[in-house]
Amino acid sequence: MALSLPDLPYDYAALEPTIDEQTMRIHHDKHHQAYVDNANKALEGTEWADKDAGEILESLDSLPEEIRAAVRNNVGGHVNHTFFWEIMGPDGGGAPSGALATAIDETFEGFDALKTAVNDAGVKRFGSGWTWLVSDGGSLAVMSTANQDSPISEGKTPILGIDVWEHAYYLKYQNKRPDYLAAWWDVVNWEEVAKRFEQAS
Ligand code: MN
Repeated sequence: MALSLPDLPYDYAALEPTIDEQTMRIHHDKHHQAYVDNANKALEGTEWADKDAGEILESLDSLPEEIRAAVRNNVGGHVNHTFFWEIMGPDGGGAPSGALATAIDETFEGFDALKTAVNDAGVKRFGSGWTWLVSDGGSLAVMSTANQDSPISEGKTPILGIDVWEHAYYLKYQNKRPDYLAAWWDVVNWEEVAKRFEQAS
């Protein structure tokens, strides 16, 4: 089955004022759609066409060289954006709770320190990419990736991630990536993040 663009789990304007409606429309309908289309184009007619997208990202080294870069960028783009829409929400923000909060306290000396680490990694990512909180063999860690590279390809499980491509923030925040990152935490859906943490633990 070819990959398809998932519907946003909320209205385009639902993340206002943190993320504006126009950015969400272009980001989801144009950018994410393009990753889906280009991924399908690259995979079509290969034995990988019916594989799970996450499995493909785990096995990039096994892909034929002539499609590897296109798959890495576009299946990565599809998986990263699907994840991104799900871990945001209109009733987001606040602080994590439960086992996730405990793990964050133990690993980073608290939620504020985690936020600082994730935002710093996002600010320092030169060009386009993502900043992540991942589970690395059961331990939490902060990392960033270039372009549409996924932590999945490094054997890590994304728990939370922020898109720092200019297309994610430029209309509202222009060149001020740090302002976008600081504001982003108002739309994080902790319930969904905690679900991913539990699945990875
Ligand atoms: Mn994006």
